[in-house]
Amino acid sequence: MEFFADWHTHSTYSDGRGTIEQNVAAAVARGLDELAITDHGPRNIIAGVKSPQTYLKINSVIDNMNGKYPEITVKCGAEADIVALDGTIDIPRQIIDRLDILSVGIHPWIWPESLEGAWSVVGVNQLAHFSRGFRDKAMVNNTKALKEAVSKFDIDFISHPDLGLPVDVAELASACASCDTSLEINTGHHYDKEDLVKAALKQGGNFVVNSDAHFPETVGDLASGGALLEKFKVPWERVLNAREPNNGRRN
Ligand SMILES: [Zn+2]
Ligand SMILES: [Zn+2]
Repeated sequence: MEFFADWHTHSTYSDGRGTIEQNVAAAVARGLDELAITDHGPRNIIAGVKSPQTYLKINSVIDNMNGKYPEITVKCGAEADIVALDGTIDIPRQIIDRLDILSVGIHPWIWPESLEGAWSVVGVNQLAHFSRGFRDKAMVNNTKALKEAVSKFDIDFISHPDLGLPVDVAELASACASCDTSLEINTGHHYDKEDLVKAALKQGGNFVVNSDAHFPETVGDLASGGALLEKFKVPWERVLNAREPNNGRRN
């Protein structure tokens, strides 16, 4: 499978080690047509951007990059955090409107919005490591929160679904398919993604394959995701950042 874009990378504005320009140069060297910078939402502990307004600053840097590197299209995105059971995310709508790409994920260490979020999103996921009962509860909560977010926001893709924090992949895939949200095959985290692929295939949803690069060296490193999708005979048309093999651009 051939890819023209990597829509999930981090820069020094969150916990990435490379500057935006270093990521862009790496993407150009890989021959990508598109790159997105998707730094962590502000409620991600330690890793998050300083404030939602940081995305406006990132946006202006990206404008400069698009002028300087005409061979690639650089998009301004975000990897927002779920901060409450009702699917609330940590980026306000007026900032979301300024983004080219919105991804949403569940992360274990976030500043919750309220006591409810502290318990239902952070607490049960921490306790899930210690008991089956809490693991089941975490799966119910994570699935509900992601489904609510998918229905409330125009989300392009869910980042690394089912990574460490349990989720009902069939339910999530069904909700995503009906809201035109893709499921990410994340090549930067090594975990079992086969159930996710099977569920999304069955429910009719789309995929994206992204590196989640935190270093310029891994920008565009998507081969393992392509190999996984090929194993399950996922057609390239259902992978939004794939292009027809040997045929140049997607459109
Ligand atoms: Zn993430
Ligand atoms: Zn990420």
